[in-house]
This record gives sequence, structure tokens and C-alpha cells, in this order.
Amino acid sequence: MSVILTRDTPFEATVPLLVVGGGACGLTAALAARDEGVEVVVLERDPLPQGSTSMSLGALCASGSAEQKRHGVEDGEERFFQDVMAKTHGTADPLLARVVGAESGPALDWLAERHGVELVLETGWKPAFGHSVMRMHVTPGRTGADLMERLVAACERAGADILTDAHVTALYAEGERVTGVRLQRPDGSTEDIGCDALVLASCGFGGNHQMVAENIPSMAHARYFGWEGNQGDAILWGKALGAGLGDMDAYQGLGLLADPQGIDVNPRLLIEGGVQVNQRGERFGHELEDVSGAGARVIAQPGGVAWVIYDDRIHQNCKELPQYKVLSGLGGIRSAPDIEGLAAQAGIDPAGLARTMAEVAGFVASGEQDGFGRAFPGPALASPFYAARVTGALFHTQGGLLVDENAQVRRADGGLLPNLYAGGGAARSISGPGPSGYLPGAGLCMAVTLGRLAGRAAGRAVKG
Ligand SMILES: Cc1cc2nc3c(=O)[nH]c(=O)nc-3n(C[C@H](O)[C@H](O)[C@H](O)COP(=O)(O)OP(=O)(O)OC[C@H]3O[C@@H](n4cnc5c(N)ncnc54)[C@H](O)[C@@H]3O)c2cc1C
Repeated sequence: MSVILTRDTPFEATVPLLVVGGGACGLTAALAARDEGVEVVVLERDPLPQGSTSMSLGALCASGSAEQKRHGVEDGEERFFQDVMAKTHGTADPLLARVVGAESGPALDWLAERHGVELVLETGWKPAFGHSVMRMHVTPGRTGADLMERLVAACERAGADILTDAHVTALYAEGERVTGVRLQRPDGSTEDIGCDALVLASCGFGGNHQMVAENIPSMAHARYFGWEGNQGDAILWGKALGAGLGDMDAYQGLGLLADPQGIDVNPRLLIEGGVQVNQRGERFGHELEDVSGAGARVIAQPGGVAWVIYDDRIHQNCKELPQYKVLSGLGGIRSAPDIEGLAAQAGIDPAGLARTMAEVAGFVASGEQDGFGRAFPGPALASPFYAARVTGALFHTQGGLLVDENAQVRRADGGLLPNLYAGGGAARSISGPGPSGYLPGAGLCMAVTLGRLAGRAAGRAVKG
């Protein structure tokens, strides 16, 4: 069946604004539409709204937030823009980078002040991986699942309806104008609903093996550790309506997926001074430079695995992080009083690991950078030592529909599709092509920032 349908008869039911996808982007868009006084329904294919958002660490980057100001962090549009452009070597969409730089902090403030979704600055996330200042924000529960619970509760309070078990399988359109959607229920029955405007918030195409193989062939055989229901529907519909696509080979990888437990290991273990080694006990890159490209680098190591090596100081600083606690409970963290014992427990070459740790201690003592360009400000790692075994994975695709400063979808020729909006993983991000331009926290930042812009602009458009 075609992804775009037409019909001659009126819809039995029509809602001014429909949103496809009930993750962070869709729910934020619905909140913004409710602020405009517009009736909105979020259509979510699963029995519960969860998405990749619920799997995430729940850490959002944002610039110019009230929380940053409260902590004396100077940040804003220009600084964010410069960081994005430096990280992507000038390849990110400059308009979008500026829009997100200007709008991300206010979006978080609005979520907290207007909708009671509390977000605090995560002071444990020191500037790294391309962020020049502290700009990571989390909800008090410090998980993506906690963020989702708070967004769902906010939608309930705001009167934004979420229809679950509603798998949108096609759009209706007259020319470029979307007129409604077809959705399928778990029993196979279908329903058609009309709309005046549509927000696509159904994320990227990580769950669609064929699209990954076509657009990101280097990760075609990598493990996908994102939401399976994210099948690239928004991109296919948008393309069929004439939308432009950008950076389709961009993705968020991570070389920190606990193996075999399948738990996201917090990059703070590295930020605070930990290192990553392979089975030979050798480091294979600058651990704080390219959090996303590290996914492919870890997969390229012997056996496709690596270990994060750290010490008791870092363990004490991170032991209350929710995912760390779970991993610890599952036996995913080894510790030993000396490097030789740790190597034996983890199955790492002991001589190689001892050599690497001695080199790292030397860099801490001398203040010199290592061969990868990493500096080790210290303190030196000290007994007892810890190790977590990890592998690399594809977490999230970053390419998608081109949007303007209101998150309205752009045609390939530069014009705008009249009533279609997109955000989060459905839209082109600010990562440029490939994996290495991804700034930590940008996935949720794009979901919340573009979600708000899309819901607001679509809401205003349907009000007339
Ligand atoms: C393990 C992991 C950790 C991560 N950690 C972080 C982090 O700490 N910080 C960060 O910024 N980013 C992180 N990310 C990325 C982040 O999760 C995503 O960028 C973000 O969640 C995207 O939000 P979204 O609303 O666009 O998509 P999602 O949250 O995935 O929501 C999309 C929703 O659309 C639904 N849907 C899809 N197709 C249809 C359809 N046809 N009909 C109806 N519903 C549909 C899906 O079921 C899903 O619920 C992480 C990702 C993963 C996988």
C-alpha cells in the first residue's frame, strides 16, 4: 500500500492537530499546542508511550537555561553555535544550530515553569566531547524513563490526549497538504482521522534494517540499541510528499553498551578520568573526543568489545546513577585491589593493561597530552580498580527531514510543505554527516526544542 493515500469522502472524525509518536518530541509538541489552546491528539503505536526516550540516560544539553544561570554558567546561542560548528567541522545546518542554541534553554525553562517537568543542571557532567561549558540537564530521576513519566503526567494535566495502540500506517494528502492519517489497531482494524496540521515525531529509522543498510552501510551489521518501533515512517512519508532530507548517514553510536547486560554505561566514568582499553590492554583513541564515533571504534577491536577502566574515586562519584546501580547488581562491574587482579578477572592481557595504566599515570604526573591528544588533569587512578566490559552499538539515527526555524518541513527545493512539522529523530539533527558530530545530549535536546517549536507553530497555524 502507498504511504500517501487520497480520499473523496470527508473524515468521520477530525482533530485540529495530530502528532505521530509519543516520545519526548511528540509529547513536548502536544504541550506547546495546548498552550495555544488547540485540541491535539498524540498517536502512539505502542501500548505505552516510551520510545527511545525511555531507553536513554535522560540527559539533555541546552544553552541559556535558568538552571545554568543559577549555577553561574555563561552560555547562550553564540557559544552553542560555535560548539556545534567546531564539533561538526562546519557541516551542521547553521540555521538549525542557531535556532537550537537560542531556543533549547528557554524550552527547558518552559517545561519546568509552565508544565512542572523539573530539569536540573547535571553538575557531574563536566564539559567534554565538544561541549565547552556545563550544559547537561536531567530530571530528578536521572533516566529517560523518568523524563517520559513526567512528560506523560504533564500532558494529562494540560489536556493533551495520547491515543496508544494507534500505529499510523499512512497519511492522507491533497497535493502537498496533509488531510489526515490512517491508523491500525492491534486487532488489525483501521481507523481514519482527519487533521488540519500534522507533527511527525515518530523518530528516525534505526529499527528499519533496510534503511540503515542503505544510508549507514558501515553500521548495517552493528547492534541496534534503540526503540524497535522507530522504522523511519516520518522520513518515508515526508519524502513521498516532496520533503528534503539531510545527513542521512548521520547517527549516534556509543562504545559504552555494557556487554552482555545491554545497559548504557554513563560517559561520566570516562569524563572523570577513566580510560577504555581492548583485550590486549591497549587504549585505542581519545576517550573524550568523539562519544558517538567510539561505537564503531569499539566494534573494530578484537572480539568487538572493550573495557572501561576506572578507580574507586570514580566509582564513589557514579555509584548512585540509576543505570550504574543496575549494572552493578547484574555483576557487570569487576573490581580488584591491583591491575593484575583486575586484568585476570576481566580477561584482559595483564602485561598490556599494566603498561597502559603506567603510561596514563605518567601523563597525569607530567601534565603532558597522550598520543591521541588527551590530557589527564588527575587525580591519578588509584587502588582499588574497576572494569566494565562494553561493546559498540547504533543508538539513534540523526539524519532526517529538513525543517525551518519553526520546525516546519521544507521541500527539497527549499519551499515549505503547508501543514507538516517535524522534530526529534524524525528531523535532520545538528550533527552533520556521519557519527562524529554528535554532541552528547543533542538527541533529547532536538526532541524537546523542535517539539516545542513544532507544536507552537502548528497550533498557531490551525488557530488561523
Ligand atoms: C540507549 C539510548 C540512550 C540514549 N541516551 C541519550 C541521552 O542521554 N541524551 C540524549 O540527548 N539522547 C540520548 N539518546 C537519544 C534519544 O533517546 C533520542 O534522540 C530521543 O529519544 C528522540 O526522541 P523522539 O521523541 O524523537 O523519539 P522516541 O522517543 O523514540 O519516540 C518516537 C515514538 O514514535 C512512535 N512511533 C514510531 N512510528 C510510529 C507510527 N508509525 N505510528 C505511531 N507511533 C509511532 C514510537 O513507538 C516511539 O514511541 C539515547 C538513545 C538510546 C537508544
